[in-house]
Amino acid sequence: MTARIIDGKAVALATEQEVGRSISLLPYRPGLVAVRVGNDPASEIYVRNKAKKARELGLEGTELVFPDTMSEAELLAEVERLNADDAVDGILVQLPLPKQIDARKVIDKIAPEKDVDGFHAINVGMLHLGRTALVPCTPAGVMRLIDSTGEAIEGKHAVVIGRSDIVGKPMGALLLERNATLTICHSRTRDLPSVAREADILVAAIGRPIFVTADFVKPGAIVIDVGMNRVGPQFASQLVHDTDKSRLLEKNGSALLGDVDYARVREIASWITPVPGGVGPMTIAMLMRNTVIAAERRRA
Ligand code: NAP
Repeated sequence: MTARIIDGKAVALATEQEVGRSISLLPYRPGLVAVRVGNDPASEIYVRNKAKKARELGLEGTELVFPDTMSEAELLAEVERLNADDAVDGILVQLPLPKQIDARKVIDKIAPEKDVDGFHAINVGMLHLGRTALVPCTPAGVMRLIDSTGEAIEGKHAVVIGRSDIVGKPMGALLLERNATLTICHSRTRDLPSVAREADILVAAIGRPIFVTADFVKPGAIVIDVGMNRVGPQFASQLVHDTDKSRLLEKNGSALLGDVDYARVREIASWITPVPGGVGPMTIAMLMRNTVIAAERRRA
């Protein structure tokens, strides 16, 4: 069996169009503020792209940049100011933050109704209670990708590899809410390949390039690859199969690789997400969607 490809770019585009239509029907422009502290190059790109996409879809997208010498108290005061600003519907603080700032304190300072990343303890709790919440964007995007296959989730065995607060745990909560039978694995899981092989739906959110090889996958499984691992030319040339070289190797020989051995696993799975072009594009689309949801709820 060769897996059908879940086209994250197409599903993200459809989501963005849907969000754009909702925005055009609103009598106001929802506001999204993305806060960045310091000069981490990856964060710089992420935050710029989020604010840009927001503006493209008709949101008021603002990027606030502060020096990496900013104190925790100053950032908390800034978040309070945004909480009180009625034109601001969504606030996100790009992680990681400089070491003098406790990220958990900052996230918990964001008004839960403006917490479009869905990381605030209130939103996390609501999600795990199965109540209305702002849901973290990456796992919410994964649910859309699975739904785009037309395959049922209910009753299937879903195995999530990874238990982080931003991907693995909320992913598990969302799958459970849809009546999957859930297993969450992590670095202490014994005999991971055989646990993963039980999965009808396998979600890899580990952060290790090409870790999930064919022996982790039951024939016919739906495989979702959340991993985004940038690897330099030396490792890339070892890890990327010849069939994928033209797709994956960039001009300087480096590559953005998923957690899944795509070339091999696609021979076994029924559906698979590629990297790039799978889960990645969904995250930003779901952030835009969360901003509109937050605006509609807060201004209702
Ligand atoms: P993280 O916080 O580092 O969590 C990684 C998880 O994987 C942990 O729970 C860890 O287990 C588990 N793990 C690590 N090594 C393992 C092993 N050998 N066997 C089994 N489990 C293992 O990472 P994250 O933030 O969840 O991100 C995961 C990946 O997704 C990264 O590549 C990240 O770049 C990517 N990501 C992509 C998007 C997107 O938009 N596509 C968004 C977010 C993240 P322990 O808990 O036991 O340490």
